[in-house]
Amino acid sequence: MSKQHNFEAETGRILELLTHSIYSNKEIFLRELISNASDAIDKARLKALTDTSFLGDDTNFEIKVEIDKEAKTLTITDNGIGMTEEEIHKHIGTIAKSGTKEFMEKLEKAKEGGEHNLIGQFGVGFYSAFMVAESVDVITRSGLDTKAHKWTSDGKSGYELQETTKEGRGTQVVLHLSEWNHELLEDWKVKELIKKYSNYVAVPIMMLEEVEDEENKDAPKKTQWKQVNETKPIWKKSKTSIKDEEYKDFYQSVSMDFNAPLGHIHSSIEWKVSYNSLLFIPQQTNAFADMRDPNKEYGPKLYVQNVLILENAKELLPVWLRFVSGVVETTDLPLNISREMLQSNATLETIKKSLVKKVLWELKKLRVKDPEGYAKFAENYGSILKEWVYYEQDLKQDVAEVLEFNTLLSDKKISLDEYLENFKGDTKTIYYITGKSRSEVLASPYMAQFVENKTNVLLLTDTIDEWMIWVLDEYKEIKLKSITASDVKLKEETEEDKKKAETTQKQFKDMLELVKNTIGTEKIEKVELNPNLGNALWALKTPDGAMNPQMEKMMKAMGQPVPETKRVLELNPENKLVKAMKKEFKADVKSKKLADLTNYAYMQAILLEWGELENIADFVAMTNKFAGEYLK
Ligand code: ADP
Repeated sequence: MSKQHNFEAETGRILELLTHSIYSNKEIFLRELISNASDAIDKARLKALTDTSFLGDDTNFEIKVEIDKEAKTLTITDNGIGMTEEEIHKHIGTIAKSGTKEFMEKLEKAKEGGEHNLIGQFGVGFYSAFMVAESVDVITRSGLDTKAHKWTSDGKSGYELQETTKEGRGTQVVLHLSEWNHELLEDWKVKELIKKYSNYVAVPIMMLEEVEDEENKDAPKKTQWKQVNETKPIWKKSKTSIKDEEYKDFYQSVSMDFNAPLGHIHSSIEWKVSYNSLLFIPQQTNAFADMRDPNKEYGPKLYVQNVLILENAKELLPVWLRFVSGVVETTDLPLNISREMLQSNATLETIKKSLVKKVLWELKKLRVKDPEGYAKFAENYGSILKEWVYYEQDLKQDVAEVLEFNTLLSDKKISLDEYLENFKGDTKTIYYITGKSRSEVLASPYMAQFVENKTNVLLLTDTIDEWMIWVLDEYKEIKLKSITASDVKLKEETEEDKKKAETTQKQFKDMLELVKNTIGTEKIEKVELNPNLGNALWALKTPDGAMNPQMEKMMKAMGQPVPETKRVLELNPENKLVKAMKKEFKADVKSKKLADLTNYAYMQAILLEWGELENIADFVAMTNKFAGEYLK
């Protein structure tokens, strides 16, 4: 005798939403049904702890997934706790879970906003079966009951319930697949879904497989049950039992990177929160796994109680560790946690903090253990590490330890420690220069005295460098200093040097004043002599505390207001042209040539510092004028 029951209003609504609005994530139905089956098995196990006769002979727990191509059904069977008649009404006739109700509200909103991802991220349990099936039968027998029941529904108005017979305890969910879901009748497809979403469910998931008769190859093939999932996830295995090759395979399956990783961090923590994690640090980049793009989805997979909750749990790693992939598994979160809840979840915050530190320590280790591999990593991802210095300032000193830099004197990148070990100069200082490219920074007039003294300089040409260096400020209590700063002196001045400087200063005094007035006191704060400029004619220096040209350009690009800064112009008294200018000045204070040359050289200095000129036409005209003189 079967009896018709109506769904309660809310169940009707969620089914309506599921069957009509979101097909893009329909494949998660299997994950949901397998997860229910696995839960039911857990409950049976628990029950057996207190009721020793509960399991009877049926002690071999497994979930069977079976395809019937003729009947066009997909059946998921478990030998878990099963459901009594009352439980059927309660559990799959109404929406008992408060989480589902909340989800449903979100789903309705999302429908308007087009956020189709929600369903894949949370799952809606049993009802997701109706995303792929036109009708569903649930045949179930509670381990506490001798009667079995069959629940049938087309997911529209209600369900039918009738008594039936069933051997043994447990539940069988039969999906009568809708026409457009017939690919689910393919073995490989179902296996793929199991592997993708339920690979690490702790109960064996079995499917039938055809096997040849070894002795008689012509005999019709037989079928036998074979386990599809891996019951023991790699991150739960003991480290010593895992070969590098296994780590690599697993890395490739989670990262889309076809190369081997640089390293892995495998940990099992039982402290404030307990979690298992297996994270990977890449070495290469490729089109599929180029994690330098900050807008790309990133983050490890998050498993809660062996169920995959999120493909990319950004909540577990900051964006500057977007190159890290892997898996985190915890039992300290409820399964039906929503993404909003994840965003401000204390458990996840604790895990995140601990993961960030682990990544940092691992990078330190890898630099020492595999310098070549690390160099490749640094080449590919080094600029992201610099974001880390900027954004996570309490760790900046540690992060700085794993950074690698191009420098004036070495042909490969070096660390700050290596810089300091080989430092040549009177006062230990980390000198750097920022700019657009290596050739641009090497052309700086300030480089001359460093080349001459063989004092190394970090050549910082990444966009983030300007900010990173500003935040870092010092490393192991040693100051980082721009070579363009006004108080850079590689050697202490001797008495003799000082005297010499004074006399030159006197000789040039009036000319310096004229140069300043020619360029304009609104642009130039003062004009000084600097004999350490190598071949350069002169250089423009930013006064202490003011924004240097690189910073100024960046602020402008971001639409920020930039205060006018008067620069200090430094003339090289050893330069031939400067000497010639002085001669001209002596001969004729009002010399037109001198004024032209002054303006021209000023434009050169700007070009060197900023890499661009506002009045480029004037510059070209003047260059041609001088070229004309040359050809005379
Ligand atoms: P959830 O599993 O998150 O509670 P579902 O909608 O998937 O939500 O399932 C509702 C309830 O139905 C479950 O809590 C469980 O009590 C019952 N149920 C579903 N599937 C099974 C099953 N295979 N065996 C026993 N009970 C089940």
